[in-house]
Amino acid sequence: MARKSLGFTQLEWTCPRCATRNPGVEKVCLGCGAPQPEDVKFEQPLEQELITGGEAQKIAAQKPDIHCGFCGTRNPADAETCRQCGADLKEGTQRKTGEVVGAFSTAPVENVACPACGSLNPAAARYCRSCGAPLSKTPPPAPAAAPPKARSRTGLMVAVAVVIVAVIGCLLAISGVFNRTSEVVGTVESAVWQTRLVVEALQPVERADWRENLPSAAQVLSCEYRYAFTSDEPQPVATEVCGTPYTVDQGTGFGEVVQDCVYQVYAEYCRYSILDWSEADVLTLSGSDRNPVFPQPQLGSDQRIGSQQAVYQIIFRADGETYTYETGDLSLFQQAQLGSRWILDVNSRGKVVRIQAER
Ligand SMILES: [Zn+2]
Ligand SMILES: [Zn+2]
Ligand SMILES: [Zn+2]
Repeated sequence: MARKSLGFTQLEWTCPRCATRNPGVEKVCLGCGAPQPEDVKFEQPLEQELITGGEAQKIAAQKPDIHCGFCGTRNPADAETCRQCGADLKEGTQRKTGEVVGAFSTAPVENVACPACGSLNPAAARYCRSCGAPLSKTPPPAPAAAPPKARSRTGLMVAVAVVIVAVIGCLLAISGVFNRTSEVVGTVESAVWQTRLVVEALQPVERADWRENLPSAAQVLSCEYRYAFTSDEPQPVATEVCGTPYTVDQGTGFGEVVQDCVYQVYAEYCRYSILDWSEADVLTLSGSDRNPVFPQPQLGSDQRIGSQQAVYQIIFRADGETYTYETGDLSLFQQAQLGSRWILDVNSRGKVVRIQAER
């Protein structure tokens, strides 16, 4: 999956000492002046705004901030000494980056109730307009729908499995009944053979394939663009399909807003004509003797013999009934002389499944 950058957004952090929500760029608390501790994470503000263009380029160029190894104060990446205590920042620690802060959305946000006096304030407000108390962020509602859905799907799969097992059981029981055979003694009443031969000719045939797979001799008839495959990387002829945008912590007070995208690639699918060996004629012969022969066609210069096939039928008379046995076994067919006696295995549908000469 390709990660696509949409821009940047300013994050915020909550002061652990006075609960003031501070804009991401502020390195010390606007409420009490305490520096942001290293373990206080950046969060998504309720009201989010996408930063693009030149300003976004400046933000993209910033390296993660450095926390002073001596007093913990957050300093810009390019500072050499701590602006709070003057310590050398080579001893400091860079803020961690890359953590997903949350889904990015610029949808309007409802007013927030002050925890101290209950009056409603705009979501972006940091202090209550009525009483001045800091407005901490209310946690977003937990996504509750996903787990039960997964569980019900498992239940459905179990139900499907039970049904499949039951159906297989029934089929086995039924095939057991049909596989039962009974023996009958029959006399050969007649026999017929049929042979079949395909004549192939080198002639134009129509086929279809992706353009890149076309044989060099193909004559293209028509092409159309069709969905071919899904790629993780951008492709020249593709439809981009992207997921919900989300914000990734940059360690600078800003987050990069990104989107994971895949690319549905389209390619030319063509009908084409090409000279190839294909069926031109089918010849058959039949007879009621024991010496089957295949048709002997006169072949043209662009013709050849394709598949050949022989089918033998032996017709028996047993207990006033007629049974037909079909086989491709020539020696068995030649043994079945008129009037000879055979043991026939007949299944429940009256079909002869096996024959054996009576001794
Ligand atoms: Zn504070
Ligand atoms: Zn310091
Ligand atoms: Zn208030």
